[in-house]
Amino acid sequence: MLSKSKHAKSLTHEERHLAPRGDWFLDFNCEVPRYEMPEDGMDSRAAYNIIKSEMFMDANPDLNLSSFVTTAMEPEAEKLIMENIHKNFIDHDMYPQSEEIHQRCVSILANLFHAPADCEPYGTATIGSSEAVMLAALAHKWNWRDRMKAQGKPTDKPNIVFGGDVQIVWKKFARYFDVEARIVPMEKDCYILTADKLDDYVDENTICVSAICGSTFTGEDDDIQGINDYLVRLEQEKGWNVPLHVDGASGGFIAPFVSPDYAWDFRLEKVQSINTSGHKYGMVYPGVGWVLFRDKSVFNEELIFYVNYLGGESPTATLNFSRGTSMILAQYYNFLRMGKAGYTCLMQTSMDNAQYLQQQLVESGLFKALNQGGVQKMPLVAIQLDEKVTRYNVFDVSNKLRERGWVVSAYTLPANAESIAMLRIVVRPHLNKDSCEILTRHILEACQYLEENGGSAKAPKLHDHHGAGHKC
Ligand SMILES: *Cc1c(COP(=O)(O)O)cnc(C)c1O
Repeated sequence: MLSKSKHAKSLTHEERHLAPRGDWFLDFNCEVPRYEMPEDGMDSRAAYNIIKSEMFMDANPDLNLSSFVTTAMEPEAEKLIMENIHKNFIDHDMYPQSEEIHQRCVSILANLFHAPADCEPYGTATIGSSEAVMLAALAHKWNWRDRMKAQGKPTDKPNIVFGGDVQIVWKKFARYFDVEARIVPMEKDCYILTADKLDDYVDENTICVSAICGSTFTGEDDDIQGINDYLVRLEQEKGWNVPLHVDGASGGFIAPFVSPDYAWDFRLEKVQSINTSGHKYGMVYPGVGWVLFRDKSVFNEELIFYVNYLGGESPTATLNFSRGTSMILAQYYNFLRMGKAGYTCLMQTSMDNAQYLQQQLVESGLFKALNQGGVQKMPLVAIQLDEKVTRYNVFDVSNKLRERGWVVSAYTLPANAESIAMLRIVVRPHLNKDSCEILTRHILEACQYLEENGGSAKAPKLHDHHGAGHKC
């Protein structure tokens, strides 16, 4: 335990004048108040420098290839962000043009995701896909309850069905909002959710099935079309109207550009809601996600509240209330600036770079690709070590790469594929071919060092006091 610090004191004007060296250095050459608020404040530059120097300790975000979240935007976008950083988006009455731009973004995304012409699309910005998922799944829970009540049936046992390949938000939703999570486990050679497994999981109490467009584990997609067709048949045969939600946190900004003919979205009749992360391949800094509904009626009226305390009557239907405006404007900036052609070019280049990286690593004979058929849906390299490598594991490789500043995740897959340990490299658009070549070289050098010296890393243990839904 660190001892409590003495209060930092900034230099007086006189002391600073007398300082033998640069005063910017002396400004923070004092003990830093860490765990209690200091009695007195300090010089603004001292406060700034203390925090700035602590930030040196963080990883370099541009070398952090374990994350999907955007780390590079254009200077004009950053200018807009800073010019509007002090606006609270929720105050629609005071900032009506922010709301107007928000609505334009919703409309652009609804069109991009092929919302049917005869429906009135509805959606909202969120803090990220997690809030978006919670809102969508809540709407489905409310709709399910209305349906059951109308039939005079019990409403105490809702369940939600998804694959073991989901991001953690789905398990969070189930626990936080008291819905039984029915998780279809992965298998050793199949890391996606397919329709043939659903019969054992879906029933009349299923509020929705969630399918992924762009899995965080392997970059593959669940069989969205097959699941849609299964749910259509289910309604015809049993009268159960179970909606499909598509988690397009990453894929929502890739599929429309890289595979425009691939129907993963509102083109499929059972798809009632879609989420996507503006701050992933939407190319905006952290703090923006989107949820889109096929039709306004899917978003249950009971979830909308009306408030008058900001002046005027504002409807509010998000989990969060206050939020910044900047990232919404930055999203619109990207839409204007890049257009479909720009997004297509960036996404395709990232796919090509990921393919190149994966190919180089597989050709070295040390790695095997996990995403079947190579990089097809998402610019993500998912690889495991070849069986012939016995002196080290993927965790050693990940650790060794940290010496060069690269952050590359190593992890084991969820049940029932937990014996598979893999490396995941998220290729974001700022990573060009040149940096992919350097990364390849660094990975192969790390492997060579580990072959000669051996490795000893262990998989980090997950703290799993809930049993995190490994069984359904
Ligand atoms: C990242 C991710 C999420 C969570 O999104 P946030 O924007 O980080 O809240 C949900 N689902 C999938 C598939 C993801 O990749």
